[in-house]
Amino acid sequence: MTDCIFCKIVNKEIPAHVIYEDQHILAFLDIYPRALGHTMIIPKVHAVTIVDLPEEEIEPIFKAVRKIDDHITTTLKADGLTIGINQGKVSGQEVSHLHIHLMPRFNGDGGGAIQSVVNKPSSEDVAQVAVRLRLNN
Ligand code: 5GP
Ligand code: ZN
Repeated sequence: MTDCIFCKIVNKEIPAHVIYEDQHILAFLDIYPRALGHTMIIPKVHAVTIVDLPEEEIEPIFKAVRKIDDHITTTLKADGLTIGINQGKVSGQEVSHLHIHLMPRFNGDGGGAIQSVVNKPSSEDVAQVAVRLRLNN
């Protein structure tokens, strides 16, 4: 996609600190890191969300997450890792090209869990919600 900043990074039209690349994905450092080694993994094909990602790209991106997770955790001696996707404006997605954040976590870093991004549960009973959301395969 011509006006997509991450497609431009894939196409080497704008620079980035790439730490890993294969046929399917690119892993590069976030320009405004929230932690040492804050990395993003993106598919080379343009997809806004994981739902838009072609089926054949699902496995390669999650294999890359596992590989980069292991690599940066070991190299930076991180105590843990927060892995997440902001999907949609309301969730904080600023770049409309799917990206998986990998944020190394260190004891005492003051950060929270993914669940801390929102705390507005429904008054609806959890069992009722489960009925509404039950998906058959
Ligand atoms: P989002 O909020 O969409 O999940 O995250 C987008 C991320 O991309 C932000 O953390 C932001 O710092 C990062 N970002 C935006 N533009 C660029 C860029 O041109 N290069 C790099 N390396 N990161 C970028
Ligand atoms: Zn794109």
